[in-house]
Amino acid sequence: MKNFDRVRIVLVNTSHPGNIGAAARALKNMGLYRLYLVEPKDYPADQAVWRAANALDVLNNAVVVDDLDTALSGCGLVVGTSARERRIPWPLMNPRECGVRVWKEAAEHDVAIVFGREDRGLTNEELHKCTYHVHIPSNPEYSSLNIASAVQVLCYEIRMASLMDDAGCVPSFDEWDQPPAKTNDLELYFEHLEQALVDIGFHDRANPRQTMTRLRRLYSRIRLDEMELSILRGVLTAIRNAAHKIKNQ
Ligand code: SAH
Repeated sequence: MKNFDRVRIVLVNTSHPGNIGAAARALKNMGLYRLYLVEPKDYPADQAVWRAANALDVLNNAVVVDDLDTALSGCGLVVGTSARERRIPWPLMNPRECGVRVWKEAAEHDVAIVFGREDRGLTNEELHKCTYHVHIPSNPEYSSLNIASAVQVLCYEIRMASLMDDAGCVPSFDEWDQPPAKTNDLELYFEHLEQALVDIGFHDRANPRQTMTRLRRLYSRIRLDEMELSILRGVLTAIRNAAHKIKNQ
């Protein structure tokens, strides 16, 4: 399997089918082909076909799913895109760093880059599922690119990274003995963690503040591997058992 086979481009809730077709074309021009559509508003549609031009194969093979978690299932790295600064800053990459990291990690596991709605981008909840955020450093007075243009820029950077790799120029990341935790396992962990924090009286679902968001960001910075995640899940189970015992005494 080649790295290109492991890169998913995920479009969330796209309104205009023309943008879906243009994105399919952007992928194919750069040698990518795995397009995921999460609840597209108007699809299939002729406009998507027209704008895809000779990338109809990519469009026809696009995977349409009902929710973002399904599109991200099995991924070891998820990158979210954002046209503007958000309230809680997140580990951020520029498009070049993103291209190199995505290319390198795609040698090992599936990777997803997530793009938002034309009118309001990705929700905070969606962005918080991502390990990193990437922002295309555009004009601050008009920072939002058309979604297919944004897809083009990031796919181009992945292609450049692949060419640099061929020339032996991509720096390698540290070797690690375990694969990174998969996003769906991390989601289960966050549910487990929230429940344990409720059990011990630390967290109140009725008044959640930013607790879970900040914890997600903390884990995002660390990038847990599979073994660490399974240890932490064991710790949570032990905490919950102890809390129940005390309650029943
Ligand atoms: N008004 C929206 C803009 C959405 S643009 C907002 O403020 O979020 C639609 C999508 O294109 C975004 O969700 C993102 O995926 C991508 N995009 C547009 N401009 C971008 C930029 N400068 N950097 C990274 N992604 C961008």
